[in-house]
Amino acid sequence: MDSRQQKALLIDPGARDRIWCVDCGAELTDKISRQRRRGPECDPEPRTGYDRHDIDQDPIPGL
Ligand SMILES: [Zn+2]
Repeated sequence: MDSRQQKALLIDPGARDRIWCVDCGAELTDKISRQRRRGPECDPEPRTGYDRHDIDQDPIPGL
């Protein structure tokens, strides 16, 4: 693991440290982008995790 990366994590996990997209360099302001370190335009994964969770649950039959 990169020691510089470890040090950055130790500074203050609660601080709003600035994170930029690893692909295009745009500053990431939303939580999901910051976690993935990729902006919406560069992220291959869809941002609809909650929607996918709902789809996984079958609708209750008989309604
Ligand atoms: Zn980007």
